[in-house]
Amino acid sequence: MAEELLYEGKAKKVFTTDDENTLLHRYKDDATAFNAQKRGSWKDKGKTNATMSAAIFAYLETHGVPTHFVEQVDETSIMTRKLDMLPVEIVVRNVAAGSLSRLLGFEEGRKLKAPIVELCYKDDELGDPLLNWYHFRELGVSDEDLEFCEELGLKVNEVLAPFFDERGIVLVDFKIEAGRDAEGNLMLADEISPDTCRFWDKETGEKLDKDRFRNDMGGVEEAYAEMLRRVTEITQRGAVD
Ligand code: ADP
Ligand code: UDP
Repeated sequence: MAEELLYEGKAKKVFTTDDENTLLHRYKDDATAFNAQKRGSWKDKGKTNATMSAAIFAYLETHGVPTHFVEQVDETSIMTRKLDMLPVEIVVRNVAAGSLSRLLGFEEGRKLKAPIVELCYKDDELGDPLLNWYHFRELGVSDEDLEFCEELGLKVNEVLAPFFDERGIVLVDFKIEAGRDAEGNLMLADEISPDTCRFWDKETGEKLDKDRFRNDMGGVEEAYAEMLRRVTEITQRGAVD
């Protein structure tokens, strides 16, 4: 199973396995925000993020989205294909919040006319800046890869916005990543969880994501547990195709 620690990130440990094309991602209970200036940890965060990512990757696969997901191994660990990651964070938004509100002066909660896709450069030292295609070309990222990223972001949104809506949740925005396997196939990678998405209750507007930690709102452990319940309970009942 897990062999050597390949990489320890802010929220996960990534291990090699006895198969050179497969990795084990162990999700930690640790959290960081504001480019790691703020740190915290809460019970069952790793379990929620691993289990929710596994369920959502499996759901996306059934809707034609290629992902790195292989299987969930235990409560906090999933096996994935090993990818060469693109240095891109793909952000998709349906409702204004966070850095988009600051960028355009939009009030938080303003519904966007159409989904907005942003491509950010995955570089902690630079604070993951929002770049355009000219910048990415200069950094050696090809137009084909950028096009894949934008299309992937829109497709994931098209599948997941209704998925969450059925569970009483507005998918406000999210961040995904992509990479290339040994055969050259590009696919969705990393995680999809309350760490990487904004989830608002459709009826009450309550925030059920990492913003509770970022903004010291309290109830973060309960919010993550509620998101896990909404995703897994309905999936287990087989109410979705
Ligand atoms: P960060 O690097 O942002 O602190 P994490 O703690 O989540 O992030 O660490 C996970 C790391 O693994 C990230 O750098 C992510 O890009 C990378 N990663 C995610 N999926 C794969 C994959 N399938 N193959 C290789 N690397 C991956
Ligand atoms: N996001 C993420 N990792 C990052 C930056 C953003 O997962 O390094 C997610 C974040 O949780 C939100 C979306 O991407 O769901 C858009 O984030 P935004 O740019 O508004 O970030 P903020 O500046 O508010 O942290």
